Amino acid sequence: PRARMVVANWKMFGNLALCRESLPRLSAAVMDSVELVVCPPAPYLGEVGRLAGRSGVHYGAGEVASESVHLEAEELESRSRVHYGAQDVAEVTHGARTGEWSADMLAELGCRYAIVGHSERRDRHRECNQTVAVKAAMCIAAGVIPIVCVGETMSDRESGQTEAVLAEQLTAILQLMKKNAMFVLAYEPVWAIGTGLAATPEMAQDVHAFLRQQLATFSPVWAESVTILYGGSVKADNAASLFAMPDIDGGLVGGASLNVDDLLTIYRAA
Ligand code: 13P
Repeated sequence: PRARMVVANWKMFGNLALCRESLPRLSAAVMDSVELVVCPPAPYLGEVGRLAGRSGVHYGAGEVASESVHLEAEELESRSRVHYGAQDVAEVTHGARTGEWSADMLAELGCRYAIVGHSERRDRHRECNQTVAVKAAMCIAAGVIPIVCVGETMSDRESGQTEAVLAEQLTAILQLMKKNAMFVLAYEPVWAIGTGLAATPEMAQDVHAFLRQQLATFSPVWAESVTILYGGSVKADNAASLFAMPDIDGGLVGGASLNVDDLLTIYRAA
């Protein structure tokens, strides 16, 4: 059975206060049946890791001691079930790359996941399918599970190119990936991101079924085991109908994930 999952992509929003408000509430609400993953801006990953009780970060003696540095083991355990990840990763293991970070660094911070190939990276940072594929491979090599994003633009859709575009994006990644490596796929139609215009459950289901069929041409194991998330204007009031579709295994949530109540409603709908 595939893992069900809700991933909060904060994008470049939020602050320390949001980390400290949301993590305890999310930890208290998380269930074994559905994973909950928070992807804050990278500067907050250490704090989110600390609040989630999983961070590999060790605070030296004499550093500022906030209450949760001294959590008891039991408390740490109970806070350990929210996963977290980065919104991007470098395509090399190390180097003179100002402003970037490697998959190994994320692993060291306790990140279980990293989003790669988000349409905002493809668009603003000119990331091509090949770059995204290398980033996904870097994650896998470091023991971080990539959440690989694919999606068509409105003009792709209007010109009947949706499946061709998605197949090209996915194929580039699968060709570079170790056979049956664990990854998560996220279908995010570009026209649905931040617009309030979510795909209908039927539209999204059609694409998810197509993606699963594409996975099957590479490996029956992938077709069965890869979690496929839908992203693009997932809100508290449309999440349940999207997540009810057979090939939609959860959501990748942007704007609505910044409100803890909305995120929890979406999470419970999965
Ligand atoms: P919104 O939920 O704000 O539309 O963003 C979706 C998204 O891009 C998540 O990665």
